Amino acid sequence: MIYRTLIKKTLPRFLDTVSKNYRLIVPEQKGRETYTFRPYSGFSNVATEFLRTVIPPKQFFLPPKEGLFHISGTSDIEVGTEEEPFSIIFGLHSCDLHGIDILDKAFSYGGRDSFYWRRREKTGFIGLSCLPDKYCLCKSMHTDFIVDIYDLFLYTLDEVYLVSVRTALGDDMLRLCPDLFREPTEKEIAEYKDRIEERESMFTRIMDITNLADLLTLEYKSDVWEQYSHRCLFCGSCVMVCPTCQCFDIYDSTDLLTDITVRWRRWDACMRKDYALVTGGHNFRGARPERFRFRYLHKEIGFAEMHGKATCTGCGRCSETCPAGIDMVEVVRSIRE
Ligand code: SF4
Ligand code: SF4
Repeated sequence: MIYRTLIKKTLPRFLDTVSKNYRLIVPEQKGRETYTFRPYSGFSNVATEFLRTVIPPKQFFLPPKEGLFHISGTSDIEVGTEEEPFSIIFGLHSCDLHGIDILDKAFSYGGRDSFYWRRREKTGFIGLSCLPDKYCLCKSMHTDFIVDIYDLFLYTLDEVYLVSVRTALGDDMLRLCPDLFREPTEKEIAEYKDRIEERESMFTRIMDITNLADLLTLEYKSDVWEQYSHRCLFCGSCVMVCPTCQCFDIYDSTDLLTDITVRWRRWDACMRKDYALVTGGHNFRGARPERFRFRYLHKEIGFAEMHGKATCTGCGRCSETCPAGIDMVEVVRSIRE
């Protein structure tokens, strides 16, 4: 690992250069307080102070809807294999890097998902440090530090970015404009250490996850699930915005004029009523409390049993997005109490 310094005012030149060599995706402001990842269209549109996009970066590897293959009337099958350009996503915070790490594990379990990996393998990451807001939970979830899947990571200091270069791809990007990068000074390293401490003290939202898996299992029949299920609209928004929720539905549609059938996969949400509905009309989680509880149990226990870590990265999207004002910290506190 090597470290370099990039003067802040030269970031536009760096991103311009990167965008000429790769498809560059950047955070942009979308509404008054909302952000989205979009293809780079000039530095003036890049949001460097944003905290979270509404839709997480999973959209680039697992699109909301995609055709897996199509069958023509003569029964020729064509699998979707269109070539993806190599992309760099700029501006990923540590929670979203952890989210991608979790998706990597999920889409490798029991065999690699070729549709996911064909995009994921052609994507590099430039991470960016951030400061927490009232929704951020990453400190509680131990995802407030970066996970080793980035190529470059930019720590924001006063006048410069301290750049961590982790991979050969990161080094390639630096070599596109070598005159912009230099060795960090002792003063910059000291400032970096101060910033870490300062950031630590800024977290106001804490979720106690001590023995949480045990607690959720022991409180399987708690009234809390029933209470929250009356408030929940089961709209599925919390699932759609979650960087690690990865469930999808598979369905076919046939165009009667062209006689072409497409097999689609699209995001699905365990909160939705027909999620666990099977042929014959039986619904494995038809009751509202069952659906509400399932999401918590799967996020905190189910995935951890397979991969050794919970799937909540503490990004805060679900709490910020929920139209019923349901907050995971509050739910866990209610269970604990
Ligand atoms: S976003 Fe809120 S209301 Fe909608 S399903 Fe999730 S918890 Fe329920
Ligand atoms: S459960 Fe909520 S806070 Fe946790 S990763 Fe998903 S959206 Fe973010």
